[in-house]
Amino acid sequence: MSDTITNTSSDLDAYRQQMRDWLAANLPARDPHAGLRAAHEISAEQLAADRALQKKVYEAGYVGITWPTEYGGQGLSGQHQQIWNEESRAYAVPAPGGIASGVTMGIVAPTLLAHANEEQKRSWLPKILRGDELWVQLLSEPGAGSDLAGILTRATQDGESWILQGTKVWSSGAMSADFGVCLARTDWDAPKHRGLTWFKVPLRDPRVTVRPVREINGSAEFCEEFLDDVVVADDMRIGELNEGWAIANSMLGFERGASRDPGAVRPKGGGIRPIAPDLVEIARSRATLTHGHVRQLIAKAHANDVMHELLTARVVSSITKRISNPSAASYIKLGHGILQPLRACAAMEIAGRTGIAWSADVHAHGETAATNYLNGRIMAIAGGSNQIQRNIISERLLGLPREPNFDTNKPFREVLRTARNWGTKGE
Ligand SMILES: Cc1cc2nc3c(=O)[nH]c(=O)nc-3n(C[C@H](O)[C@H](O)[C@H](O)COP(=O)(O)OP(=O)(O)OC[C@H]3O[C@@H](n4cnc5c(N)ncnc54)[C@H](O)[C@@H]3O)c2cc1C
Repeated sequence: MSDTITNTSSDLDAYRQQMRDWLAANLPARDPHAGLRAAHEISAEQLAADRALQKKVYEAGYVGITWPTEYGGQGLSGQHQQIWNEESRAYAVPAPGGIASGVTMGIVAPTLLAHANEEQKRSWLPKILRGDELWVQLLSEPGAGSDLAGILTRATQDGESWILQGTKVWSSGAMSADFGVCLARTDWDAPKHRGLTWFKVPLRDPRVTVRPVREINGSAEFCEEFLDDVVVADDMRIGELNEGWAIANSMLGFERGASRDPGAVRPKGGGIRPIAPDLVEIARSRATLTHGHVRQLIAKAHANDVMHELLTARVVSSITKRISNPSAASYIKLGHGILQPLRACAAMEIAGRTGIAWSADVHAHGETAATNYLNGRIMAIAGGSNQIQRNIISERLLGLPREPNFDTNKPFREVLRTARNWGTKGE
């Protein structure tokens, strides 16, 4: 497809029309009540159906639109991607495994594209784009979230293989996934940020136990994993030995919004973007669309949407043009972390009593509002909390003094020894 499609406006129009026809003929309409991370489990049948649908979209040429053809993509421009984003908005686009799909496509795949070696990219990326493989992130541990470089999972070299041992937690979508990208410590004598390496870990390996964690919204979208001497070959190592911290930062940049598809976030402007459709829908169903206070809430949410979209476009463009360093993605992430809780509160206010108790047939929006309210802090924590984003902005972008710390330059083994002695030897 990429050989024949160019960026002239008539070609883009033809591309749009062809896509419009394909979408209408092949994908169901999007459910307006489909809340972000709704409280439901994904059955094996649903997962299989979603994978099949992703394959269908892939085979039509609409997955990996801007991705290099040698890795299974279409090699088209950000404008083509933007057309997909606009045209597919009204459809239920496939997301196998729900959040696992978002993590695979939005975070892991761009990281592999940036850091995996040529052979790995040619082998792994087409399977990801086709929906054959779902990958998740194994970063956080019970004792290492904000302080990610303090992880204790170890990878020990054994000839041509590595043996991984440790515990990971909060891994979104892991119960649906096939593989995890796992950050492990490979040098205990190096300072904490310098002895880390990434590995591809098969989640269905008998030496990996994946256990779902039940959440306040009733769902169990994240898991904890116990790696019990899992053996992976050296060609499952991603990036250079002990250079994993740079890859971690790059991956977190993608998670925080440093999209590799500038076209995907081009500002659409207030006139084109629909006005807070989720809130309008709730107000309409409660016949409060004409109430002054409700209109204020909707107008504020819309202004925030437009402002955040423009901020995102500006940050991504400045990262892409190398005007800003990739840490600028923290502005996008912090924006989400501040605005998402406000949006969740506004939805509950508009939903009123139906956000507390609803009947599924009459007030489906009530459940969406309630679920999103319970999920309201997700973006303030996942991918680094608001406080951590503020630290990054102050230290890496504004040049303010770094947070005091005692451990950055010490061998990690010594950091652990010192921590064990805290309070007992006057340290
Ligand atoms: C919805 C969701 C999805 C997630 N998905 C994944 C995933 O797929 N894979 C994965 O590996 N992890 C995942 N996580 C984990 C996430 O990355 C961590 O929860 C996050 O980094 C915070 O770490 P923590 O929970 O250990 O909190 P802590 O690090 O213990 O932080 C507790 C509090 O202390 C504050 N704090 C900590 N250090 C500082 C500091 N230096 N300065 C100021 N304040 C500080 C924090 O802001 C926070 O308020 C997910 C989390 C959520 C909520």
